[in-house]
Amino acid sequence: MSARVVHGVAEAREAVADARRRGASIGLVPTMGALHAGHGSLIDAARRETDFVVVSVFVNPIQFDRKDDYERYPQDVSTDSEFCSARGADLIFNPAVTDMYPHAQRAFVEVEGLTEHLCGAFRPGHFRGVATVVLKLFNIVEPDRAYFGEKDAQQLAVIQRMVRDLNVPVTIVPVATVREPDGLALSSRNRRLNADERRAALALSRALFAIQDRIRAGGVDAAGLKRIALETIAREPMLRVEYFEIVDPVEMQPVERVTAPVRAAAAVWAGSTRLIDNLLCVPPGAAR
Ligand code: AMP
Repeated sequence: MSARVVHGVAEAREAVADARRRGASIGLVPTMGALHAGHGSLIDAARRETDFVVVSVFVNPIQFDRKDDYERYPQDVSTDSEFCSARGADLIFNPAVTDMYPHAQRAFVEVEGLTEHLCGAFRPGHFRGVATVVLKLFNIVEPDRAYFGEKDAQQLAVIQRMVRDLNVPVTIVPVATVREPDGLALSSRNRRLNADERRAALALSRALFAIQDRIRAGGVDAAGLKRIALETIAREPMLRVEYFEIVDPVEMQPVERVTAPVRAAAAVWAGSTRLIDNLLCVPPGAAR
């Protein structure tokens, strides 16, 4: 069956209310479209755990810190809706910018502390834009459960904290990162990579897996681990590192010693494409 596509906020509310009247639980998968198997795994999880699956497809202008990145972001809702239908979604909410922001937006969600490091240090306003649009989506769809990829670990931490601190009645479900067989994390931005950049990009996941192995083997000194990762990436001259950090996975603060589970997280540029990736690394003896 094909998923129904709605654009307006009122239409989306009505469609969800109708499902609720039938006793359905609601799952929401927020996306910016250009859907791939990573998004697919979020939709699959929602399909397994809830009765009525809503996929939002919205390229949210207020979370982009660079105009060219926003303008280049791939948009093709008919391909996305076929993808969602094949994965068994029920409703696609694809608002226009004027549906989501009909007048000047004056209220924003700010999640302090978690947004200072990693991507937050390089993309001013990004997480404020993300948290704001996600809260709007939660208020429109009122899902029981909402699905977010670990691929965007800082985003996941920010949303979990927003929900906790603002008493938003939704369960956040993290979903593991889907990778290509060679290790590259799936991303809508991968399609911008040329063949050389695509090959070079592999150094990012390679460095993360190397750090994960060392932490599993008892490596504790974050500075030393970072140095090894940076050397791995530096061997690939096509890549430029924006950051590589080892942080605690809840507060997203850099650690000096790895004595509990951490996230190794990085952003690199391959040509004009920015790629991010991360891995949870659990030292021996530490519970997840
Ligand atoms: P985006 O469309 O890039 O905003 O991503 C929408 C959702 O899909 C976010 O929760 C992402 O973390 C998640 N996602 C993106 N890529 C992947 C991936 N490779 N594996 C798992 N989830 C992903």
